[in-house]
Amino acid sequence: MKIHKHEVIIVGAGGAGLMAALYASKKADTAVVSKLYPTRSHTGTAQGGVGAALGNMEEDHWEWHAFDTVKGSDYLADQDAVEVMCRDAITTIYELEHMGLPFDRTPNGKISQRRFGGHTNNTTHKAVMRACHAADRTGHMILQTLYQQCIKNKVNFFNEFQVVDLIYNNGVCSGVVAYEVATGEFHIFHGKAVMFATGGWGKVWSITSNAHTLTGDANAICLRRGIPQQDMEFFQFHPTGIYRMGILITEGVRGEGGILLNGKGERFMVKYAPTVKDLASRDVVSRAIYLEVRQGNGVDGQKYVMLDVTPPTVNKYFQEDDARNPDGSLRHLTEHDVEAKLEDIADFCKTYLGINPAKQPIPIQPTAHYAMGGISTDIDGRVLLDEQKTVIPGLYAAGECACVSVHGANRLGTNSLLDLVVFGKRAGEHIAQYVQNVPFPELPDNATDSIKALLENLKNSSGKETVAKIREEMQDTMMDNVGVFREKVGIEKAIAKIHELQKRYQAISFQDKGTQFNTNLLEAWELGCLLDLAEITAEAALVRTESRGGHSREDYKERDDKNWLKHSIAWKNERGVTLKYKPVTITKYQPKERVY
Ligand SMILES: Cc1cc2nc3c(=O)[nH]c(=O)nc-3n(C[C@H](O)[C@H](O)[C@H](O)COP(=O)(O)OP(=O)(O)OC[C@H]3O[C@@H](n4cnc5c(N)ncnc54)[C@H](O)[C@@H]3O)c2cc1C
Repeated sequence: MKIHKHEVIIVGAGGAGLMAALYASKKADTAVVSKLYPTRSHTGTAQGGVGAALGNMEEDHWEWHAFDTVKGSDYLADQDAVEVMCRDAITTIYELEHMGLPFDRTPNGKISQRRFGGHTNNTTHKAVMRACHAADRTGHMILQTLYQQCIKNKVNFFNEFQVVDLIYNNGVCSGVVAYEVATGEFHIFHGKAVMFATGGWGKVWSITSNAHTLTGDANAICLRRGIPQQDMEFFQFHPTGIYRMGILITEGVRGEGGILLNGKGERFMVKYAPTVKDLASRDVVSRAIYLEVRQGNGVDGQKYVMLDVTPPTVNKYFQEDDARNPDGSLRHLTEHDVEAKLEDIADFCKTYLGINPAKQPIPIQPTAHYAMGGISTDIDGRVLLDEQKTVIPGLYAAGECACVSVHGANRLGTNSLLDLVVFGKRAGEHIAQYVQNVPFPELPDNATDSIKALLENLKNSSGKETVAKIREEMQDTMMDNVGVFREKVGIEKAIAKIHELQKRYQAISFQDKGTQFNTNLLEAWELGCLLDLAEITAEAALVRTESRGGHSREDYKERDDKNWLKHSIAWKNERGVTLKYKPVTITKYQPKERVY
């Protein structure tokens, strides 16, 4: 057994993990353990932009950004955390610029910004240009920039090491156990502090924008170690995934002037959000698409609608007013613009659909996209153990696997990349300070026993079930019953199905019994994580008898602030799921009805 000793152990090398590593490594010996090579992390696929009220294009204020975020969250976000994020956004973006991040520029050399759903001028209520972008590869640029900076800062990277357990006994966290993908060896990473930054778990659903590796590993590990998860019933469906494939078409396309059309060629968002139309927040647009399809307005009677970026002159539903920039110039996209501003999107459309988006509309449907819930933390990334907000010393989390909570019941576009860099940095700074004052905790003797036994059992099982079949059944049942719309009978059906799948999971087997690059084994372990997260999502969704943000109950259509203006906290043990609740932090913005 190899034991590696570093003061700070960060699990995950996406935007959150790398930002934290960069700051922690300024004062402490820091290791990053990642199942992927760092620059293959999902952050690298983020297209549209990162939000900050720089006001480079038109008037904007961080307070407007904060209000939009709270409103977008359907008032479930903790407002103290939102204020920190929107205020720190501005300095953090300039810091990234100074690290060398190649943002797009305005003609006078400032960082260029574009419109995005839910971001508005709070006086006129029209969409405001707040998303800073580097073409449609913003996340890629963030990841590359941070990785270079981490290398410069001598962060120790352990790539293709999959963390499978947390060493956490009697409230003390002393490291993690990892499985080396290339060799099948177990390693202990012994640290004074551990931080999780493992991203989301979109693979619970069948149509998803998420990469294959987004399986919620740290969230499941925490649950198994008695650490709860917050607001798991809130999962975002992005309105524009490529039909049947789920591959994301960024909201930036609508920010640049693209519009949604139903099968009759109507610009239907005018009905659902008369002011911001196609740029309403994601939960609103996803529901509108589902409703159009249900009313028989899908294209050719199918379950999809069209996203149209062809020039507005060819489209009678495109109002002249919508097609103008604040300076009065037209902002419809020419073929050249599509190639220059949305190069990757144009490429996806050509590769996967065989169409040129500058000439033909893109068939789209809502796709599972983003986990609003996760490991509960405070604004310095410290993990919280319960509804009393008890801090677990030495355990941190940030990014999509965490819930601080700035996104509440629904995240605004561009606010995740922002969450990564702002709270990744805060966690990194806090960890650097924390490890100065504490000794290395003792490692328990039997740190790897239970996880080794679990993986051995999986490998030696000779049952008839396959990982692919169980995963597919889980994804279909979650898509049908715990998706954009939910109701009691469907959720109960999903829970029963997940319980059945968990039993059948005990009887899975796979071919590869070897030690080198045994992805069969790791996929089987990841499926166990996904099943746990599916169960807890469905249980939390069943109990919340209201509709709020991404959680839309057909049997309880209204938001119910009297009973449900609170965060859920969920634990899981052999007896099932336990739910408790804690209040939402409200500073300035009293809950109001959301009008778009
Ligand atoms: C297609 C797409 C486009 C998006 N576009 C935008 C956008 O334009 N703007 C925006 O704000 N947000 C966007 N988002 C959301 C945003 O990109 C993600 O929420 C964010 O990048 C997550 O970053 P992260 O650092 O938390 O995790 P990730 O970037 O997902 O990285 C997770 C890391 O954890 C590691 N890891 C996971 N499990 C283990 C394990 N068991 N052991 C060791 N390592 C592990 C992985 O190797 C990886 O390094 C988009 C998301 C997608 C899917």
